[in-house]
Amino acid sequence: PELIKKLESTIENIPDFPKPGIQFKDITPIFLNPKLYEEVIEDLANFSRGKIDAVCGIESRGYLFGIAIAVALEVPFILIRKKGKLPPPFVGQKYDLEYGSAEIEMRTGQLQPGERVLIHDDLLATGGTTEAAAKLVEKQGGKVTQFSFLIGLKDLCGTDRLKQFDAEIHQILE
Ligand code: 5GP
Repeated sequence: PELIKKLESTIENIPDFPKPGIQFKDITPIFLNPKLYEEVIEDLANFSRGKIDAVCGIESRGYLFGIAIAVALEVPFILIRKKGKLPPPFVGQKYDLEYGSAEIEMRTGQLQPGERVLIHDDLLATGGTTEAAAKLVEKQGGKVTQFSFLIGLKDLCGTDRLKQFDAEIHQILE
């Protein structure tokens, strides 16, 4: 509850960004406050402690917290990147956007078959990106056992799209 209050007063709501009618949640003020950042990592690490073998972070804000979770729990961190950024070998997964489609990629050989995976991102909106990330993990024989986010936008029902994975979901702020 204390952490929730602190985050609510720190995260900025930016109207009409990146498009008119959209309200953007800007998490960057968290990084101006190292103590708060530590508390966020502690919260996220506590959720996953003893339950995962690897963390997969989604480009790019998912890296800002995901790697610290992995280091705190002493498990590997694996990058999930937007198409075209990773050297081969990699596997890809397409997903639909509001207009058109996108693709994310992950290096092969970094995740071991059977590993329990946390997928982490800063924010869950429609769940499209996270769903694609989970499919990418499954394509490589990983088991998605947890999802974590700083923020979940409840109105967009992103958690509905994640039900198929039978994994725990943690959102610090809803
Ligand atoms: P989804 O695929 O769930 O619709 O969108 C989630 C992705 O979009 C995440 O990778 C997230 O970083 C980004 N995103 C969408 N809206 C926002 C926002 O308001 N603030 C931030 N920080 N990220 C957003």
